Amino acid sequence: MLKPGLLVSVSVHSLTEKGDGIATLEGRPLYIEGALPDEQVEVQLNLVKRNFCQGTLVRVLQPAAARREDFCRYTACGGCQLRVMNDEAQLELKRRLLVDVLQAKGLDCPVANTLGMSEPFHYRNKAQYAVKPGPEVGFYAKHSHQLVEVDECRVQAPVTTEVVQRTRAWMRRCAVSAYNEATHSGSVRHIMVRDGIHSGELMVVLVVAESPSNEALAQLVTELESVTGLASLMLNINAAVGNRVLGPENRLLWGKELIVDSLDGLEFAISPLSFYQVNPRQTEVLYREAMRLAKLQGNEVVFDLYCGIGTISLFMARHARQVIGIELVPEAIADARANAELNGITNIEFHQGAAEQLVPRLYAEGVTADVVVVDPPRKGCDTALLVTLAEMQPRRLVYVSCNPKTLARDLAWLCEHSFKLEQATPVDMFPHTMHVETVALLTRA
Ligand code: SAH
Repeated sequence: MLKPGLLVSVSVHSLTEKGDGIATLEGRPLYIEGALPDEQVEVQLNLVKRNFCQGTLVRVLQPAAARREDFCRYTACGGCQLRVMNDEAQLELKRRLLVDVLQAKGLDCPVANTLGMSEPFHYRNKAQYAVKPGPEVGFYAKHSHQLVEVDECRVQAPVTTEVVQRTRAWMRRCAVSAYNEATHSGSVRHIMVRDGIHSGELMVVLVVAESPSNEALAQLVTELESVTGLASLMLNINAAVGNRVLGPENRLLWGKELIVDSLDGLEFAISPLSFYQVNPRQTEVLYREAMRLAKLQGNEVVFDLYCGIGTISLFMARHARQVIGIELVPEAIADARANAELNGITNIEFHQGAAEQLVPRLYAEGVTADVVVVDPPRKGCDTALLVTLAEMQPRRLVYVSCNPKTLARDLAWLCEHSFKLEQATPVDMFPHTMHVETVALLTRA
């Protein structure tokens, strides 16, 4: 009889979407955090249900070839799920995941090797540390709102450790309180650090429910001023109950309001609220792959749909006749226009609105594209947009996706509506996590 507490020896055959190992125990899946495919493990059962079980890894009896030593000492942190899998195996896993979802939809095309990083550490340019009474500073545990104290994170820029330590020391010294979720009282909620890896400019945003005293804020400036690269120190006021990190109001405490970063020679201005790709080195890899597949000759009209702050649009504009960028969020469109100006790029226009509404409208007015790039959020493209793209028949359609499932769904639809899937390339934007980014190319069938 299976029951909690029982020790079992099982072989792991696959991984869940969250990166937990899956074995089969008496006909039902057994989920084991930290276990890898192709290994024999001893597991203590925690949960025994009719259709699944969950257990704790006790020891690895026969390790997978992919296993390596954990590179991080914060075992409870939920940030990275594939830490014990070596880099090469992670890249192959991501390729496999993509192949499998495509095949499940009956799609058959060459899938390139995952484009990975040679040094997959310190890759993030944005850190968001949560702060709780103590003060404790860190990240949330897997599947929970439990804080795990983390000073040094291997995927963040090394300078963030210093910012966190200094900010915590400042809170203690100046008796600045941390925000308490339960009572909705206290001040500091998050410490956010953004760094322009190419420019070396650093922005620190202290997110508070209520502002510390001016005296305390002056001390914070003194504490952080000497951090290498600090270019901007902002106070963000977020008094709202809930999980949203940033509030609507920003106050400049020191330095300037925007920092600048560059991608492939283009400059982008970053404010506390603006969306910006989190792994800039891999963003270049991703966009170059999108550019390669778009195969621009210089005379095309390009639609960049879901354009965010216009990063892909600006990449394409240097090699096309005209680019039209479309994005839902008004602030992102404002940033996109500012970025075009910052780079002196004029063959570009940005429209704010839903792609599934604006593209049909533009098409009805006779505006069409030779090449279309889409980069939708996780839920993929709306059918109304796909219908218009099928009518418009661009020569090339480059689909950038952060979710293989909705990608496969949309590609299958497009292949039934006179497009041909030529190839797909997975790109590793978030090493050590289960996240798979893909660039796919469709042509007119
Ligand atoms: N291409 C950009 C951003 C991609 S993220 C980059 O590489 O940085 C996806 C973007 O789609 C977000 O900016 C989001 O605001 C936007 N978005 C979400 N739904 C949309 C819709 N229906 N129409 C247009 N844009 C949308």
